Formats: sequence, C-alpha cells, structure tokens
Amino acid sequence: MKLIAGNWKMFKGPRETREFCAAFTAPEGVEAVLCPPYVSLAAAVESGQTVFAQNVHWADDGAYTGEISAPMLVELGVTGSIVGHSERRQYFGETDETVARRTVAALEHGLRVIACVGESLEERESGQMELVLRLQVEAVGDAVGAHERLVIAYEPVWAIGTGRMATPEQVREAHAFIKSLLDVPVLYGGSVKPERAELIAHEGVDGALVGGASLEVESFEAICRAAGAVQ
Ligand code: PEP
Repeated sequence: MKLIAGNWKMFKGPRETREFCAAFTAPEGVEAVLCPPYVSLAAAVESGQTVFAQNVHWADDGAYTGEISAPMLVELGVTGSIVGHSERRQYFGETDETVARRTVAALEHGLRVIACVGESLEERESGQMELVLRLQVEAVGDAVGAHERLVIAYEPVWAIGTGRMATPEQVREAHAFIKSLLDVPVLYGGSVKPERAELIAHEGVDGALVGGASLEVESFEAICRAAGAVQ
C-alpha cells in the first residue's frame, strides 16, 4: 500500500486542523498521514487521522528550549515523525548527524520515521547527486539499518515548493540508487500535484511526501486517490 504524507509545514492552527480533518476521508487502498505543526497535533489525533510530527528531538527531555521529544509525541497519540526535511537543513542547521540522532530516538520510542534526503540544484548540476544522497542515506542507515518503521523520502531541493517536479526518469534513477544503499520504502516529494500524481504509480516509488497540495482537502484526497488506484 502506498503511503501519502501531507507535510503542512507552518500552516494550520488547531481550528483549521479540525476543519480539515472533519472533511478529509482517506481513500481506500492508501495510507494517508497528516503532519501538522506541533500545536495542532492533538486536534489531528483527536479526529482519528494518522498523525506524524514534522520533527522530533533526540533526547527524552532536558534543557532544549523549543524542542519536542519522542515520548511527548507518543503520549499525544502521534505515531511517527518526519526528520531531516530540507527546510530544517537549510534554515535550522540540521545536519546528517542530527538527523541520524533524531531517527534513532524516534524509532527507539516506537515511532515511525520519514527521513528526508535530496540534492540541491547546484549539487545535481555539478555531478554530486549520488555523493550527497549517499552521505544522507548512509548517515541514517549506519545508525538504524533497514528498520521496519523507517521510510526515506527523496525530495530534490530544487523541486520543493517550486512547481518543478522531477521527471519519472530522475525519480526512477534516484530511488533505485537510494534503495541500493538502504532497503526501505522510498517516497517521492517535490511539487506533487493531483494532475501529476501518476508519478507515484512508477515502480520503486512507494508513496509521496506532499507539501503545498496537502493543505486543501480536495487536492490531497485527489493525490491519495491516484495513489490508491495503482496497487
Ligand atoms: C515538502 O514540503 O516536503 C514538499 C515536497 O513540498 P511541495 O509539495 O510543496 O513541493
């Protein structure tokens, strides 16, 4: 079954989250996951949807102002977390090492993990795509191996929020490379829209991590339906 995760980023407080969840029904044949901001996690969990956080700290508790731990998420009924999103790497100093530490802690506490990897345009154009992916994937793989609750999301940075989706050939190539390094499901992320959701049907694509198009019930449902239709 394909996994479709909606990364809401810093959108939707509890009120909008409740409205979305009341209107959203996950189509048959697909696993739909919502990833709201921290303050909206409880509202999403209460609605009965499957809910992941957008990040998780490696310590159980401690002097880490502004951070949230895996036990706290578990207590809330959250069942997984994204780690290593490119926006965390770009704006908040996330490194391969901290991504690995977050992954270890989340898995140890029973959470599922979507670990994001992906090259920048500059890295792709200078022929460094495989090197970058190898470093990012191996950081996680060396820490936890092909864990049954681990999923990798291939999100080329140049495709996130740009409307510039990777081509099927680019996705096939990157997914095959990632799977040769670590045998876990691989999602695609980067400007996935309902009209181009057929990309999820390709072999080696185990689902999608959706940003912008996950904010509207209609477009997120359409992407989930497209994924559910290609078992
Ligand atoms: C994301 O935030 O992970 C993402 C892929 O965003 P978008 O779908 O908007 O490109």
